[in-house]
Order: sequence, then C-alpha cells, then structure tokens
Amino acid sequence: MKIETKLLHAGIKPDAATGAVMTPIYQTSTYAQESVGNSKGYEYSRTLNPTRHTLEKNLAAIENGEYGMCFGSGMAAIDAVLKLLSPGDEVVSSNDLYGGSYRIFTAIFQKYGIKFHFIDITDLSNIESVVNEKTKLIWVETPTNPTMKIIDIEGVAKIKQQALLAVDNTFATPFLQSPILLGADIVMHSVTKYLAGHSDVVMGALVVKEEGLAKELYRIQNSCGAVPGPQDCFLVLRGIKTLHLRMERHSLNGEKIAFFLKKHPKVDKVYWPGFKDHPNYAIANKQMKHFGGMVSFSLKEDTVANAHKILAKTNVFYLAESLGGVESLIGHPATMTHASIPREERLKTGIQDSLIRLSVGVENADDLLEDLSQALS
Ligand SMILES: *Cc1c(COP(=O)(O)O)cnc(C)c1O
Repeated sequence: MKIETKLLHAGIKPDAATGAVMTPIYQTSTYAQESVGNSKGYEYSRTLNPTRHTLEKNLAAIENGEYGMCFGSGMAAIDAVLKLLSPGDEVVSSNDLYGGSYRIFTAIFQKYGIKFHFIDITDLSNIESVVNEKTKLIWVETPTNPTMKIIDIEGVAKIKQQALLAVDNTFATPFLQSPILLGADIVMHSVTKYLAGHSDVVMGALVVKEEGLAKELYRIQNSCGAVPGPQDCFLVLRGIKTLHLRMERHSLNGEKIAFFLKKHPKVDKVYWPGFKDHPNYAIANKQMKHFGGMVSFSLKEDTVANAHKILAKTNVFYLAESLGGVESLIGHPATMTHASIPREERLKTGIQDSLIRLSVGVENADDLLEDLSQALS
C-alpha cells in the first residue's frame, strides 16, 4: 500500500467482537484469563492494551518499520532509547537539538556516565572525527528545531559504524520523510505534534525494524512503564488518518509564508528548507516529499523585546509552545522552547535573540499572511 492508504488502514481491522470500524477505546487495565497462562493475548495494560497495540502496528507500518512502541510523551520515548546504553557509552548528536532532548541528555543521562558529543552534523566529516568504538548512538533531528537545518540521513547511516542511528522524525512526519528507508535503526516521534495533529494529546513513539532491538525496547517500555492510555491512543489513530491531507496544506501554507517573510523589510533571515539558496536544499529536496509547515525568522532589530512585541500582536497565530496542530502557533525559542540551552550555545547554532518560530497551520493562507503583516507593522 501507498502511504496515504497505510495511514488509514495499516495494522487496523474492524473490531473482531462487534465489527466497529473505529478501533474501540479498550478502557481496561486487565483481562480475564480462561486458565492460568491462557489469555487472549492481553494480560495487563502496561504491557499491552488493544487500542495501543493497534496504534503501535499502524505506526510501525507508516514508518516502514516492523515494530512500534508508544510512550506517555516524546520525552519518555527518548528516555527509553537512552536506557539501551550503559555507563561509558558515547552518543553523538547535533548542536541545535530540541531543547528537551538537550536537557534529558545533559541533565539526566550524563550523570549516569554516558558521554555526549554535540556537533554540527550537517557536515558529515564532523561525525567521522568523533565516532569511535564507544559510540553506541547517533541522535539526529531533521529538520532541526528551530533553524531548519537538514541532516543527510543516508549519509550518516553510511558512516555510523556499530552505532545505532536514531532519527527524531517529529518535524517531517512519515508522510514527508522515511528515515528507516534511508538507513536509520530507530525512528522517534513526539506524537504530540503532527501525528496527533490537533493539540489534544501528549504522546511519544518509537519504530524499529530489527527484532532484537525491538525486544530490548519493549522490555524497557514494560519495565519502566511510561505508556499512554487507550483514550489518547484512540485520538492519535483518528489524527493519523488525515496526516497526508494536513501535511500537504501545512507545507503549502508554510511555503507561502516563507516567501512573504523573505521579502518583508523588517525581517532579517528566514529559515525554511525549501529555498533554493538554503545551504542544505539539495538534501532536503532528496529526502523530503514537501518542506513542511515549520518556518523561523529573525528580525533586523535583533532583540528579545522586539520579538516579544510581535508575538503579542498576532491574532490568528496563537502565542504558544508546541507545534504540528491544525491551528497556527507562534513562539520565541530563546525564551520558550529553547530556554534551557545556554545563550552562548544558542547563538552558536543561529538561535538569535529575535528568532521567532512559526508552526503554520491549515487555515486559509491569506488570513495567516494578513495576521503576520499587521503584527510586523
Ligand atoms: C516536542 C518535541 C519533543 C518532545 O516531545 P513531547 O511529546 O513534548 O515529550 C521531542 N522532539 C521534538 C523535535 C519535539 O518537537
């Protein structure tokens, strides 16, 4: 099946008991057994729940993997991957990560003896110079957040040696980019964002292809217990059915806004991987179907106060954390999503004081342009 069909059908069957077309919310913690050790495949909902199971199968299929695991948040999914490691292991990651990923690496796992290298992964030779026999994980986010750099997934896969390559595919979604087909071992999602798509759920997910790796991750999922409830899984199954329709419109609106901002006299830089003069345009064009709905820009008057003034003036764009919902959001990385990254680190990766990030929704593009135009003026 093609991705558009898989989004609706892969791993999903009408309910065996009733024929219900929509996967029921199995709001149960436990399951009656015929005799000891003789269950219908479900014993306790931390280990497995039918609604979650259906979502995990759907996620595995749409990411071109074999095994899916859902978690209570994107951070819980990242936490599970890091628990594959042991003291002394090393991780290579990029220097403009999602703030929460940077925080869990440095504030939580560093103290357990895991060593992190934060480098500019857009230049593959930087990876070659830090990868060694202790490197167990390469953690890649592409497009990066919020400066929209693009990392060559296939290029990293070729030089990763024994390390596992994990790709945070939250921004691109499986509709725009398929990391496993490009050589990744693990795909991670903040399902909270585009997969759920309606700003009503917090959830995370992992998808892998290899059975041994899947078993380890299921063991961690069940042992540590950061699983989502069935109602949230139902909402995500519902959201995923329209992912292709939403992503096409997010991408179209994102493109219109990127070109509008590029011409605006108060705007300095615009970060959007669809520009032909974007430094990673060739890779973006090769590994992504469209360029998505995330656009960032900085102001000629580069101050926090100036950015905050604009943020307070939009009406259609809500000033809020998060991204990937149907409604447009506007945010300020330096004081919101990326506040946990020290200023010097931020500046090195292009997160200027005035940088504003847009999660462009699926509204009418003219209304969005008018809203930005009045806020900027
Ligand atoms: C939001 C986000 C996360 C964290 O996910 P939560 O669901 O908020 O825990 C990780 N990576 C990226 C790129 C994100 O945008």
